[in-house]
Amino acid sequence: MTNEELWQTALGEIELSISKANFITWFKNTSILSLKDGHVVIGVPNGFAKEWLENKYDLYILRALKNIQGDIKSVSCLISSGPTQSFPQTNKEITVDAVQAPKKSPVFYEKKPPISQESNLNQKYTFENFVIGGSNELARAACYAVSKSLGNVYNPLFIYGGVGLGKTHLIQSIGNEALKINPQTRIKYISSERFTSDLIDSIKTQKIQEFKEYYQKIDLLIIDDIQFISGKEKTQEEFFHIFNYLYQLNKQIVLSSDRAPKAIQILEERLRSRFEGGMIADVSKPDLETRLAILKIKALQNGVEITEEALEFIATNIKNNIRELEGALNRVSVSAQLTKKSLDSAYTKQILSDIISSGKKKGINHKHIIKTVSDFYEISPADLVAKNRKQEVVKPRQIAMFLMRSELSYSYPGIGDKLGGRDHTTAMHAYEKISKEIKLDERLDEEITHLRDILYTIN
Ligand code: ADP
Ligand code: MG
Repeated sequence: MTNEELWQTALGEIELSISKANFITWFKNTSILSLKDGHVVIGVPNGFAKEWLENKYDLYILRALKNIQGDIKSVSCLISSGPTQSFPQTNKEITVDAVQAPKKSPVFYEKKPPISQESNLNQKYTFENFVIGGSNELARAACYAVSKSLGNVYNPLFIYGGVGLGKTHLIQSIGNEALKINPQTRIKYISSERFTSDLIDSIKTQKIQEFKEYYQKIDLLIIDDIQFISGKEKTQEEFFHIFNYLYQLNKQIVLSSDRAPKAIQILEERLRSRFEGGMIADVSKPDLETRLAILKIKALQNGVEITEEALEFIATNIKNNIRELEGALNRVSVSAQLTKKSLDSAYTKQILSDIISSGKKKGINHKHIIKTVSDFYEISPADLVAKNRKQEVVKPRQIAMFLMRSELSYSYPGIGDKLGGRDHTTAMHAYEKISKEIKLDERLDEEITHLRDILYTIN
C-alpha cells in the first residue's frame, strides 16, 4: 500500500468519526509525507491545521492508521507548502472510493429472516424468569409497563447500571412480552456497537437510505449499551434522526447503558437531552435475599440439584454481579457432574475457594488499571503514562493513580514509578485530590465505581 492509499483509507475512517465540517476544515489538503519506523509525518497546509490535528485529532488519526497498518505507533504534523492531491474532491468520493469496502450487505436487510432473527431477541429473557428485588424493582416496573403499552408510557425508557446486573435481560423482556401481546410488532434489538458497524457498512455500500428506512419502520427499537456511541459523531447524528422520526410517530425507544446519560462522555447535548426526556431507571447491586432467589431460579431452570446451604454460601460470597453468580453456580454444577459428587456446601466451598478466598484483588495489577482506565476514557495507555499534561489525560491519569492506591495499596513512589517515573508527591496529590472530589462529584463517584466493576469483572 502506498502512503497515498494508506492516507485515503484512513481519511475514510476518520470522516465517519468526526463532523463533516470539522473533517473538511482540518483534513483538507493533508497528505502523508513520510512513514518510517512506525512514525507517520502528515503534511498540513498551515499552523492551525497542525495544532488541531496534533492536539485534538491525534487519537483519531492514530487509531485509523493503526487499524490499517498495525505497526504504526506515532503521528506528527509538518507544515508543507503547496497543494497536495490527497484530499478527494467531493465528499461522496471520500466515503465510497477511499475505503475499498467489501461489497457485502449488512445483515439487516437479509431477505425474510425468521421472526426471532429479525428482531434479534433472545427468547430466554422474560419477565417471568426475572427475579424482582429492591435493586431492580423500579427498572423492572418501568420495563413491564412499557411492554404493555408501547410508545405510551415512558418514552424513551433509559435503563442504566453496572455490568451483569440484568439490563439486557430486562430490555429484551420488553420485546418478548410485546411479541406475546402482538406477534406483528416490529421489534429490533441491537447493541449500539452493532448499530454503528451496520451504519458504517451501509455508508460504504451506499445503502444508507435503506438503513434509515429499515429503522423507520420499527415499532419498538431497543438499543443496548448505548454508551458506546460516545465520541462517534456520525453514529450520533444518524441515531438522532432515527430517534426523532420514531419518537414523533409514538414508536417506543428503549436504551440501556452502563451509566446515566449525564455520565456518558462525548455525547452530543441534543442526544443527551433526548435520553433524559423520558424515564430513567437504574439497576444496582442485588441484596443477599435477591441473590439467593436468583440462584434458586437458575438452579431450578437448569435442573441443578444443590442444597440450600450451598446456595447460601454462593449468594453470601458473590456480591457484585449476577453474571458471576450464575458463573459460580455453573461451575459447581459442572464439577459435581464430572466427579459425581453431591452439591453440598463443603463441596461448593472447595470448588469456589480460588474465586472467593483470595478476594476481589486476585490477579489484578497496575497494568490492568492502566488498560481499564485508558479504555474507559478512550485514550491510549501510552498517553496515560507519558509525560504530557494534555487536559484530557490529566484526570484519567490521576484516577489511575487513585485506583492503584485504593485497590492495590501500592506505595506512592511505586505508583509514580508505574506511571512513567513520576515523583511520589504527584501520586500522593492525585490520590488525595480524587478522594476529596468523589465526595463532592456524584458523576466522578459513579465513574470510579464503574471502573472498579470493569476491573474486577473483566480481569
Ligand atoms: P447486564 O446487561 O446488566 O450486563 P445481563 O442482563 O446480561 O446484565 O444479566 C447477566 C445475567 O444475569 C443474565 O444471564 C441474566 O439472565 C441474569 N440476571 C440478571 N438479573 C437477573 C434477575 N433479577 N433475575 C434473574 N436473572 C437475572
Ligand atoms: Mg448487557
